[in-house]
Amino acid sequence: MIFVFVVYTLQGLGSEALIVAGAAGVFGALGGAVGSLWHNWTIRHASADIARAEHDARHDQLTGLLNRTALFHELDSAFQKSQSADTTMGVLFLDLDRFKVINDSMGHEAGDELLRIVANRLQSSVRGSDVVARFGGDEFVVVCRDLMNEQSVVAVAESILRNFSEPVSLYGGAQVISTSIGVAIAKPDDHRRPEDLVRDADAAMYKAKKARSGYAVFDEEQRLLVIDRLDIERDLVRALDEDQFEVYYQPLVNVDERRLYGFEALVRWNHPTRGVLGPGAFLDVAEETGMMAAIGELVLREACAQAAVWNHLSPDARNIRMSVNIAEQQLLDANLPALIEEVLDWAGLPAGQLVLEIIEDVIVDHLDGLNMLRAIGRLGVGLAIDDFGTGQSSLGYVKQLDMVSILKIDKTFINEMRNGDTDRAIIDAVVTMAKALDLRVVAEGVENEQQLRDLRASGISIMQGYLFNQPVTAKNVDPDSWFQPRAAVNGEPKKPGLTPLEVSRAFANPEQHKRPARRV
Ligand code: C2E
Ligand code: MG
Ligand code: MG
Repeated sequence: MIFVFVVYTLQGLGSEALIVAGAAGVFGALGGAVGSLWHNWTIRHASADIARAEHDARHDQLTGLLNRTALFHELDSAFQKSQSADTTMGVLFLDLDRFKVINDSMGHEAGDELLRIVANRLQSSVRGSDVVARFGGDEFVVVCRDLMNEQSVVAVAESILRNFSEPVSLYGGAQVISTSIGVAIAKPDDHRRPEDLVRDADAAMYKAKKARSGYAVFDEEQRLLVIDRLDIERDLVRALDEDQFEVYYQPLVNVDERRLYGFEALVRWNHPTRGVLGPGAFLDVAEETGMMAAIGELVLREACAQAAVWNHLSPDARNIRMSVNIAEQQLLDANLPALIEEVLDWAGLPAGQLVLEIIEDVIVDHLDGLNMLRAIGRLGVGLAIDDFGTGQSSLGYVKQLDMVSILKIDKTFINEMRNGDTDRAIIDAVVTMAKALDLRVVAEGVENEQQLRDLRASGISIMQGYLFNQPVTAKNVDPDSWFQPRAAVNGEPKKPGLTPLEVSRAFANPEQHKRPARRV
C-alpha cells in the first residue's frame, strides 16, 4: 500500500523520478520477500535449535535415554496419574554388576558401548509407555504405571533380567551383562513423594546386589533401615573430623606353638549418641559415599603405629603381625602401594609385620588388576584372602595369586563344621590346596573347643575367634604377657592361646600407647 501511494505522488515529478522510484519499489518488494523468507528461515532454524536444546536438556547424550532431570519430571506426572486412576506403579532401579571391571579392563569406549547396549535392551524389555532413564554412571531407572498389582511390577523386573541373560557381543567377545534391580511399588494411596520411590528402589537394589538375587522388592523393614542410613551418612562426615573412630585388635593365635600369631585391626565408631558401632552398621554407607578411603587410611595408620609401639615395649612383639582390612575403594586407588610404603615409614614398622586382608569377592572382581597387589607384595607386606569360601568363584583362581600368602577361612564354615559334614570336607580340601600352594590357613570365628579340636585335626594351627578373645582396644592388650609364648610364661596352659583374665588386664599407663609422632 505504501509503495502504490508513493508511485502516485511521484507521477507528478517526471519520468526519471518514476524510474528511480520504480526501481526502488522493485528492490523494496524483493527485499521484503527476501526479508520475510529470511525471517521464516531464522524462525524455523531457531525453533529447531530450541527443540534440539530442549531435547538435549532432557536426554542423556550417550544413550539417548531420558536423563535424571527428565526422569523426575516424568515420574511426578506418572505418580499423579496412577494415584488418581487408582492403579499400581513401579519404580525399578538398576545397577550393572562389575561394570567397573569392564570399563577398567576393556577401556572407556567399550564401557560406553556397553551402556548403549544396555539402554537398548532396557527399552526393548518394557512397554513403549514406560519411562526409561539413565540415572547416572551405570545406573538406570524404569518407571511403569497403570499396572494391575505388585506381581505385574515384579514381572517387569523378571523380564528385564531374562533379557539381560543373553550375552552381548562387545568388541568381538561375548559378554554377559549382569544387573541388580531394586523395585519400589506404589499402590493407590501411597503417601510417599515420587522421589522417595527412587530412593527406596535404590535401597532395594543394594539388597539385591548383596544377596546376588537379581532383584529385590523394597519393604517396610527396609524403610526403617533407609532412615537409619541417612542418619549414618550425615553423622559419618562429622565422625572423621571429630576423631570418633577407634581401632580394636583381635588376636590371632598359633595354637600349636602356643603363642600369639598376630592381631587383626577392626574399626569401631564411638558414636556420640548410639554408642560403639561395629563396621556392619556403617562401612557400606562409607563405601557408597566415598568415605571408605579416608577411614581405611586412618585404620592403616593407627594399626601400624600401634604395632610399632608394641615393638618398642616388648622384643617378642616383633614376631607378631598386624592385619589390616583393605576395602574395594582403596584398591581402586593406584596410589595405594605408595601410601602403604609411606605409612610403614611414618610408623617405623617393618613391612614384614603388616598383612593386608582383602575379601575374596573383591579379589575376584579385580583379577585383572593384580599388578597393584604385586607391587604391595614387593614391599614385603603379606596379603591374605579374607572370608575365603564365601565368594561364588571356584578355587581355581587362587593359583593366579602368587603374591597372596594367607587364606582366612570364613566363620560360616567354622560355625557349621561338624565331623563328617560337607563343611569339614571343604575345610580339608582348602587345607590340602593351601599346602600345595604354600599358603598359610587361618580359621576365623572359632568359638568353642570342639571347633578348635576339629580344626587342629584338619591341620590348621592359626585361629581367631571369641574362644580366644573378642576384639579389644589397644590399652587392653598387655604386652608383658601377650607377646611371650604361653609355655614360657606359666608352663603348659590348660587351653592354648590367651585367657580372658589377660584381656581384662589393662596397662598401668595407657598414655604410652598414644600414636607416635610423625616421622619425617
Ligand atoms: P573380617 O575381616 O572377616 O573380621 C572378622 C570379623 O569376625 C570381625 O567382625 C570379628 O569381630 C568377628 N569375629 C571374630 N571372632 C568371632 C567369633 O568367634 N564369632 C563371631 N560370630 N564373630 C567373630 P567385625 O569387627 O564386626 O568386622 C566385620 C567386618 O567388617 C570384617 O570382617 C571386615 O570385613 C570389615 N572391617 C572391619 N574393620 C575394617 C576396616 O578397618 N576396614 C575395612 N575395609 N573393613 C573392615
Ligand atoms: Mg578381615
Ligand atoms: Mg573375615
